[in-house]
Amino acid sequence: MICKNCNIEIDDTAKFCPQCGSSTGKREEFFVDSDHLVEEIKKLIDEGIATRIIIKDEKDRTLLDIPVVAGLVGALIAPWLAAVGAIAALAVKCKIVVEKRQE
Ligand SMILES: [Zn+2]
Repeated sequence: MICKNCNIEIDDTAKFCPQCGSSTGKREEFFVDSDHLVEEIKKLIDEGIATRIIIKDEKDRTLLDIPVVAGLVGALIAPWLAAVGAIAALAVKCKIVVEKRQE
């Protein structure tokens, strides 16, 4: 298969790209208004299937890269949500990139 991030050829069984470290799991991207950014991130973490959540601006620059590790709950989420809130205050529209566990 081809790495979705850096486009090099990688082994079909690889879980991560050896070059850039990107997960080879499912990756979804969508835009969200900053008004709904915090809600949306909370929802993704609650769903428990995301392994990584990346927030980008409209020019595709990474603003925040959240590694969603097991046990990222309650007090541990708070600093991330504060950071997300700070981004939402500045941006109008953000792109959310979600990497999900491979089924
Ligand atoms: Zn790669």
